[in-house]
Formats: sequence, C-alpha cells, structure tokens
Amino acid sequence: MRLFPLTLALLLSCTAAQAQIAAAPQPAVETAIDVPKGILGNAVQPLSYRLDLTVDPSRERFSGKVEVGAVLERSSHSVILHGRDLAMHSAKAVIGGKSYAGMWREVDPTGVAELRFTQPLPAGPVTFAFDYDAPFYDGPSGMFRVNVGGDWYSWTQFESIDARAAFPSFDQPSFKTPFTVTLRTPPGLTAVSNTPEISKTLESGLEIHRFAPTLPLPTYLVAMMVGPFATLEGAVPPTPQRARPLPLRIVSTRQNADRLSFALQGSKEIVALLEDYFADAFPYPKLDQITSPIMPGAMENAGADLYNDSLIVLGENAPVRQQRRFGMVVSHELAHQWFGDLVTPRWWDDIWLNESFANWMGYRIGDAWKPRLNIRAGALAEGFAAMDTDALVAGRPIRQKIDTNAQIDSAFDGITYGKGGHVVAMIAAFMGDAKFRDGVHRYMAAHRYGNAASTDFFAAMAEAAGDPRIVPAMRSFTDQQGVPLLTFTRKGNRYTVTQSRYAYFGTASPDTRWGVPMCVRHAQEKQCTLLTEQSASFSFAGAGPLVPNAGGTGYYRFELPRRDWDALIEQADSLQGGEAQALADSLSASVLAGRSSVRQLAALARKLVHHADSYASDAATAALADLASAGLIAEKGERGWSRFRGTLHGPLLAGYGFDPRAGAYAGEDPEKTQRRAQIVERLMDSTRDKSLREQLLKAAGSYLDGDPAALDPVWFGPAFEAHLRQGGMTAAKALVGKALASEDPLFRPAALNAASATGNEEIARWLLDELNDTRLRPSEKHGLLTGIILTGETRDFGYAWLHDHLEELTSGSGGIFFSSRLPRLLGRFCSVERADTFASELRPRFAGKTGELELERVIERIRNCGRLREARGSEISREFARLK
Ligand SMILES: [Zn+2]
Repeated sequence: MRLFPLTLALLLSCTAAQAQIAAAPQPAVETAIDVPKGILGNAVQPLSYRLDLTVDPSRERFSGKVEVGAVLERSSHSVILHGRDLAMHSAKAVIGGKSYAGMWREVDPTGVAELRFTQPLPAGPVTFAFDYDAPFYDGPSGMFRVNVGGDWYSWTQFESIDARAAFPSFDQPSFKTPFTVTLRTPPGLTAVSNTPEISKTLESGLEIHRFAPTLPLPTYLVAMMVGPFATLEGAVPPTPQRARPLPLRIVSTRQNADRLSFALQGSKEIVALLEDYFADAFPYPKLDQITSPIMPGAMENAGADLYNDSLIVLGENAPVRQQRRFGMVVSHELAHQWFGDLVTPRWWDDIWLNESFANWMGYRIGDAWKPRLNIRAGALAEGFAAMDTDALVAGRPIRQKIDTNAQIDSAFDGITYGKGGHVVAMIAAFMGDAKFRDGVHRYMAAHRYGNAASTDFFAAMAEAAGDPRIVPAMRSFTDQQGVPLLTFTRKGNRYTVTQSRYAYFGTASPDTRWGVPMCVRHAQEKQCTLLTEQSASFSFAGAGPLVPNAGGTGYYRFELPRRDWDALIEQADSLQGGEAQALADSLSASVLAGRSSVRQLAALARKLVHHADSYASDAATAALADLASAGLIAEKGERGWSRFRGTLHGPLLAGYGFDPRAGAYAGEDPEKTQRRAQIVERLMDSTRDKSLREQLLKAAGSYLDGDPAALDPVWFGPAFEAHLRQGGMTAAKALVGKALASEDPLFRPAALNAASATGNEEIARWLLDELNDTRLRPSEKHGLLTGIILTGETRDFGYAWLHDHLEELTSGSGGIFFSSRLPRLLGRFCSVERADTFASELRPRFAGKTGELELERVIERIRNCGRLREARGSEISREFARLK
C-alpha cells in the first residue's frame, strides 16, 4: 500500500459511513467472553473460502453467501472470528453432513465477532456457512461505492482490517488460503477479482462472474470491483523468467477510457524489471491495474492492484511529478506482489517487511524504468523527511509490537515508509548490491506463498552477507527509534566522530547506540566503516571539505565544526545530489537544535539553487520555508524572506523562461521542467513577481472560460490560487462548481485544493458549513479541512471546526487513511500554550484510539517549536529580516 503524503490534501481521506448504518439485529449477550483485542489464537485454522457475493453498486447494500473450510483444534461452543456491520441472516457449521445453527454477534467495534452454538462443535474439519448483507461504505475501505459521471461503481480496499466489513472471515495475515470468488452483478457490468474470470452466465436476471481459485492469499489482499469500467487490454511479453505472456489490463471509470495507454506500456516495462530483480516470474496468473477516484494512494491486491486515478490516468505530456509518481508507486505496488503477497508477514508488527522494502524497490525500479525522471532521489527526500518525525521523543521504531487492532494503522507511517526505505538502502549499499539481492532471493525462495517474520529475513541476510556484524547493525535501526547524530571534531587532518541521538532544541533524548554504516568522503577519497563504538577516529590526506554522508544514503545527521560547515557549504553546488540533500537536512537540523544559524542555511540555499538535481536544488530553500511557515518569524522577518526568494529565484526564472500554455515544454529535460515548476511556486509564495502573477491569472481565466490549451496542468496549483486570491468568494464558488462537475484526475483535486488554501475565512466557512453539494465526496470534505488548517490565516478557524466535529471525523473505519493521520493537520502551530491546550483538549478524545501516537507527536512538535521561538525567535526573525 502506498498513501499520498499529507500535502496532497484532497486526496487524503476518509471515514466510512458506519455511523449512519443501522446495526444488525443482535442476540442478547448470554455469556461474557474474553474478546481478543489483537491477534486471534490458533483455535481455528481456516483452509479455504468460497465467496459468492451479489454486488449492484447502484444499491446501498450488497449481500453474500460465504463458506469457510476450516479445522477446529478442539471441541468448543464458541468460535471467535471477524465481521463488522454485517446483517447476518444465518450462520451455521457443517460437520460430517450434520448442520449446527450458530448465533452471530459482533463483540468489538474493531470487528471481532463470536459464533456461538448451543452444543459444542467437535474438533476436526468443519465448514462454516454464512448468509448476510451489508452496507457499501462511501469512503475507501471495505466494499465501497462512488457515483462517477452518473454511473455507480464499487471497489474493495481491505488493508489493514477491513475485509471483515465485506465478508465474515479470519481476517489476519497469517491465514493464507485459496479463495474462490463468484460475483453476481446486473448484466453488462465488468467484474474484476484477483484471478481470471473463467465463466460468465445469466441466471435470474443477474450475470454470474466466476473466477479461478486463487493461490494462497491473506484476506487483506482479496479484491472485488464491479462497474461499467473501461478496460485497455494487453500483455507483458515473455521474459527470461516467464515463458508465457502475462495478461495485463488497465481498468478505469469510463471517462478515462482514452488515457490508459501510458499505464499499459509503463506497467509492462516495470513488471519485466521486477522479474529481473527477483529472478522470478510474476507470481500470479494475470495483472489488472485498476483506478478509483477516491482511493487515497494505492493498494497491492494480488493480481488486482488499485490506484487513485491520478496515479494511473496520464494524459499526453503529463507533468513530471505525475510521471515520477507513476513510476515510483507502480513499482512499489508491483514489488509487493513478491514482498507482501508472495511472502506475507505473520502479523502487523512486521509490516516493515512489506512497506520498507516496497518503498526502496519503488524508487529503485522506478529509477531503472526512466532514469531521466530522477525518481531515485525522491527516496532520499522521503528518508530525510522521516527524520523530522523520528527525532521526536514520542514515536515508534520501524518494527514494533502490536497488541491491539487499534494500533495497526499507525504502523503505516513515515517511519515504516521513509525511514524503513532509507535504512534498507543504507544496508544494501553497505553489503553491496549482489550480496543484498542474494539475501532477498534466499528469503523469497524459503517462504513462497507462505508467511515469514523479521527473524527469517535477518537469517537470510546473515547468510548472504558473510559478515556477522550486518544483522545487529540492521536491528539497531529497525528495533530502536531515533536519528543518530554523528558529531565530528577535528585536529589537523584527523577527525574524531562521536555518535549520540539527535535532539531538538531544549529537549533531551535517551542514550542510544547504533551500528552505523558510515561513509565519508574527502575529494575523491571515500572511507566506509561500521561505527559500533561511541567514538572513532580517522584521517584524510589532501585538501577539500569533509563530506560526512557520502552519497547521502546514510540514515544519520551530522554536526561539524564551524569552518567545516562553511567549507562544505561553499562547495555545495558540486556535491552529488544525495550529499547535497543530506547537507541541507543536517544543517537545518542543526538550526532546530539551536546550533547553526539561518544565515548559514541561506548561504546554502544560494549555492544549491544552481544544483542540477531538482531535489537538491530546492532542499535548503524548503528548509527555510519550513522555518518561516512555522510561525517563528515576525513581520520584518517575513519581508526579508520574501525579498530573498525574489532575489534568488527571479533571475533564474528569466533564464528558464515561462509559458503557461499546455505542452509548452514537452520534450524538455524533465529535471529542467521540474526546476521551473519549483521556482514558480517559490516566487508565487513570495507575491513579489507581479508579471508572473499576471501571466498565471490570465491563463487561469482563459482555461476556466473553456480554453484547455491556455494552462498546462503543472500550473493548476499556483494559477488557481492566484485566481481565487483575486476573485474571492464569487470566484471560489464558480471554481468549486466546475470542480464538482468534473472527473478530471488532475483538475478536480487541484481546484478544490486551491479553494481550501485561500486563507479567506469566509470561503473556509462556506466550504465546511454551507457547501452541501452531494457531488462533494466525504474524502474531499476531509481534504478541504486539511487545506484550511494548513493555511496560516485560516488555521485557528479550521481547528475550532475540527474540535467541534472530531467525533464525526474519527468515527468509522477509515483509520488507515484519515483517523490515524488526523492530528498531523495541527503540526504547523508553534507555541507551548497551544501544545498544552491540545494535550488537555484532545488527549482524552484520542485515548486508546488509532491516531493516539500521532497526537503525541504533534503535541511535542508544537511544544518544541514554541520553546525555540521563546528562546531564539527574535534572533531568528532578525536573521530573516536581514536576508537579501
Ligand atoms: Zn506498500
């Protein structure tokens, strides 16, 4: 699975509609039972499922007849399994031809259910048979439906624990069994599941789609999609690993029909690259790549991956960012067909074995797919961003014990993805590519179509590495939270390096020791060592600054003596891209720890702005922008910051040129196109470039008046923001109206996003309280709230609204997409008092719920920022005021 980052606000979503759903009739509670809050015991071993579901997306409910073949370990009156919001008509056990009627009741809001019998079931083989119906949700979890362009479609999204809202099940990743799926739909609809459709017949006015039995799968990877889909068919040609063509389809809602060929071609190429890496054929008999407009990211269902429209539907001359995301996310989801689907963690505490690896592979294979897009550099950017979270005292290690269902979704965070991916890259670089790949092959071969845990992975790596230090070093990063800080001191050419745990200004971190694979560079001379002691020394001959994170793949921050910082900053434009990103991260971390200055960070921004790598070129400017938007600086500081951006970026844009028309830069080097986009965004932020603003306003006007050639999608964000800042409420109403009438995967979210970020409280109020348009999806309403709270001028209004609507926002099962990430919206407040207020107002409301950890992180972040402002705010503000 891959979630969109929070800044893509409108694509972030959503709670299911459970609050409005009438509860199924429940038998009176007869006997108190010990409800398992997390992992189920071994009392029942499921062996196979037959799902026969009637799915008509135009109705509010679907129905199912489900049989689960299983073995009872011992005789019992009671079977514990999973189900949520299921209206059960009958539930029974069939043993040796004898039928036992059961009483179904749901005993926990996370979807734990009990099936109770009046007489004990004997141990041994059993078939459970269920007949039920259940609601479609309107947010992306369980079985959900959306009206797109007048047609109803339904999709499934089961990770982490939402399969239980679609069928009664033992909904836990350790249970891998074959599934035989039948879908009964209104005639003429397309039905898609994990395997090829083997027959289609008509019976009692319904079309019966029967699918081949699957290879062993856990419940969370099952998929069932129904609707009048458009499909583009093809095949991945044979490869050295696979003798036959692999059937491949792109499946999307009808209005996207003419924009599916990019995805077909790209998916073919990416499958072949992955088969080469794994030295193994694609593990399933076909692949469908399916899109839904409300999916807030992507999901790796075996042979039936699901994506947000914007990830798969790419028009001609798609923006560089969209192409990069396609390469990274498709590679990520398809890597999961091996890491996650073929070999599945036993329990959610090892989800890093899925996500950290898929993240690493996503960037690596994406980069191999189209090197011009520089996708690989995005992995480092994500890793350095994760350090900001990992540096807090509240937190979690990559690998963490999970006791309750409510904790599961919080494991899908920046630590698992960004840190996990970075740590995998670091270990792979240290072991060497060939040995690391050998370890991956051993691990896959030993657990094909089965389950595994971290210990299995570590054992495979230890065998492949031939270096006993690798596993303890890796575990020091997977099992401990925190970012190593390497502090370098110097005497002549001799350096001493000391490791500690990085801490923000005014805070103390627990004492922690890692096995750090450290690579340093002096000119062309590179030294790599595994730093296991607290301190070590090394020497360099020759001149040139010390580069403390050679290549940028090390998951650590560094601190330098003043003149070493200055020497490194002076040479920053000639560093490798990853090294430049590492420098910007460590220097801004040094500012936030109260050591380095804004002046040094600005000097770095001036150097890096000329860097050829678009991730490196903006890294220091982005760090300054974060400081400025955190509320650390006063008005004079704001003016200096605005002036600085104008001086820095104005002349650059003159060199690059600017033409907002669609396709104006088609065929250009993608890095150059991306640089221009960054520069325009920075200049528009600073409001200083009037002619740029005029050009964008004019182009937005023509575009909205019906000339699609007037504005390239890459400029939607800044152009619509300018349009709304000028046109106010009238323009906002018109733009939102156009957005809701459109299903364009780039225009609709960009327009709504711009409407949420105007900083105009009247517009914000209208969006949240008065806009009762049924075309506005619940996920989009959450997106509007996100934009309003992330924008400084409407932040307080947004928080007040959130405070009043919190229960409504966190009810339902959309934890993985919304509830667990909700507190993050508050991360841009900056004061000790605010931190205290949130602690007293929100802690009781999140206690024991998904989102609890995220709340602790955000409170700490706000308090740290407040402390820095109290102690050093005026000095930081003065430094910003002096920027030129
Ligand atoms: Zn994933």
